Amino acid sequence: MYTYWSLEYYDQENGIRGGGGLGVLAADTRRIAESLDVPFVIVTPFYPKVCHQKMVNGKLVDETTPVDYHDYGYKLLDTVYIKCNGEVCKLDVVGKKLGASIILAVTEPNFGVLYQGLSGSDHRLYQEVALGFGGYKALKLTGIRPNAMQLNEVPTFFAALARLDDLVSSGVNLYEAIVYVRMHALYTNHTLVQAAEAEFSFEQFERYVFPNLKARAVKRWLKSQFEDGKLKLSSVIIELTGQHNGVSKLHARLANYHDIAGDRVNFKPITNGVDMKKWVLPSLIEYYCGLGLMDDKLRLTDDYAEKLKQITADEIRNFKAEGRRILNETLAMRPDQNGESPYFGDDEMIFVFKRRFVDYKRPEMPFTDIKRLREILEPYNAHYILSGRVHNGDTAMSAKLQEILEKVKNDDYLKSHVHYIADYDEEVAYALSVGSNFALNLPVVGLEACGTSWMKDVANMNFLISTPDGGVADVESKYYMPVTGENFDEELDSLYTWMKHALSMWESDYDLADIIQSQLTGFLPTISGTRMFREYCELILPQN
Ligand SMILES: *Cc1c(COP(=O)(O)O)cnc(C)c1O
Repeated sequence: MYTYWSLEYYDQENGIRGGGGLGVLAADTRRIAESLDVPFVIVTPFYPKVCHQKMVNGKLVDETTPVDYHDYGYKLLDTVYIKCNGEVCKLDVVGKKLGASIILAVTEPNFGVLYQGLSGSDHRLYQEVALGFGGYKALKLTGIRPNAMQLNEVPTFFAALARLDDLVSSGVNLYEAIVYVRMHALYTNHTLVQAAEAEFSFEQFERYVFPNLKARAVKRWLKSQFEDGKLKLSSVIIELTGQHNGVSKLHARLANYHDIAGDRVNFKPITNGVDMKKWVLPSLIEYYCGLGLMDDKLRLTDDYAEKLKQITADEIRNFKAEGRRILNETLAMRPDQNGESPYFGDDEMIFVFKRRFVDYKRPEMPFTDIKRLREILEPYNAHYILSGRVHNGDTAMSAKLQEILEKVKNDDYLKSHVHYIADYDEEVAYALSVGSNFALNLPVVGLEACGTSWMKDVANMNFLISTPDGGVADVESKYYMPVTGENFDEELDSLYTWMKHALSMWESDYDLADIIQSQLTGFLPTISGTRMFREYCELILPQN
């Protein structure tokens, strides 16, 4: 069975909310496995509490609310026990079957929220150990053999460790067992530098990890991996996985990791993709299939590029009008910073910037020259929607958001044409993709691992204005509107120039059809989630 391990899983329909792209990727992978009828289990925590953000008097406020797995159709399957900090912890194992796929989750009332505390803290280690050891026991109880394991980022290391311990304690020699665990295990890395990763101390492992190991040889092996009493999970996850992948071509090239022997790790590029069925307007999917761009399993056809030359400007405008209705309905429930829900007519043009508020994604960049931004938008009566969550406790990014909102408030055009939507989530992401016209993606080049938000925009026929970074850089820059420059000022100028062009090109039927056709030609192979899943399967599923 294909088992996929992730501390973060973003699937609100099934009661689990993630933090960003890492969790969306996990959920998209499960949905694609389901649609392709591949037996698949996602092993993840069910967090009993979830954090929301809202605007109160112009300030972002965090709010934690409880979630009950019973409300989402999970069944309590069993209980498992792990040892932590001198105590025995009881974990509930809950499950939900969706076609050929299963969500198997471990949970308990004090599990906490996703990314609670600092990344090297005891509570994080507890969550990680609970997923790895608890999840592995849960699999065994349900009779599932994890003969293929995908480990989504380093915190899932303990799943591979639990498997190693199981093999060695049942009589397999340590080195044979390591070879065996490695054989069908894939470590998916989303982070560029190993140095940025938190470390755990030997003392923390004595309290949370070693007591859960049965095999003395495994304990000895793990102890020998510490350096100066510290351990980075990336160094050991590399030892227990035979396959390692980065999430875009550029990221796989740049990711700088070393194994225990000091050799640089070779990451194979498997660029992230998205589940089209989840993220694209259903009528548009039907249209793509009708044109013969993809088959009924949403696999791209060989002559898709030829087929998409039939796309016309009228059709694009109709799909966008349909998406606009969804956007208006969604925003009616999700007011902006002024407590208002703007209503957008079909002909109004909208720029969108929607992604987690982290420094390298540069949400503030378009607001650098407020006067110029206004000069671009005003002649077209264009709007700008901004959505993104600030990570709990990130005071620098909170301040940046306040600064943007302050600048906007002081401009009598922008204050009614720039809308900030709090608590960015799947629903807002979808509505903004289907209902806007121009998507901005502005990470500092070299810092975005892949990004998938822009993929949803391309698939839903928005113009993509982006720096050549992450997965965007998989594709030649002639296929989108590349924001480039030797320094920030040049990049900014490039951004504004494209924003202005984009508005006038959208109004021309010829340019509109041409740009959308060109973007889809360049990007459809990359953004296809079925392509990504096939690449994973080739790496780790035992071939028959
Ligand atoms: C698609 C999506 C993401 C991914 O965002 P990137 O910044 O492109 O990685 C994050 N959060 C939500 C809610 C999404 O829908």
